[in-house]
Amino acid sequence: MYPLSDLTDLYQEVILDHNRHPRNFGALAEADRTAVGHNPLCGDRLKLYLKLDGDRIRQVMFEGSGCAISKASASLMTEAVEGLTVAEAGRIFEAFHKMVTGDQAVDLDDETLGKLAVLSGVREFPIRVKCASLAWHTLKSALAGSAEIAKTE
Ligand code: ZN
Repeated sequence: MYPLSDLTDLYQEVILDHNRHPRNFGALAEADRTAVGHNPLCGDRLKLYLKLDGDRIRQVMFEGSGCAISKASASLMTEAVEGLTVAEAGRIFEAFHKMVTGDQAVDLDDETLGKLAVLSGVREFPIRVKCASLAWHTLKSALAGSAEIAKTE
């Protein structure tokens, strides 16, 4: 189980809320891209549905099952990228990846990251980084039109 006590109360609240009430949860019938992601380390699985309008992400939805972190991260991701261009979503992915892998310091007040900063605590728990990144790897694969299952390895 994720040591939630190690996160700040505020971040913990947001994550638990997104886990209990995931945003944009469900299948999107008129999706023009889909991708499946699997994190074998934890057992998280999700399917992502994308509706594009040119190079803009019009709508994103997901379904699947997994731990609280993977679900909350997917929920937050759908909110973060909706309405963005593919290039903008790519920049957020980069910033998010830097934040959770902790390779270098990131400015958590950075507007690019916005609400995603609530997941910064996972950098202390390498196994959970994969849970938090799963939705993003799946998004990347959906945007690339890849038919392969997105893996966190
Ligand atoms: Zn997980």
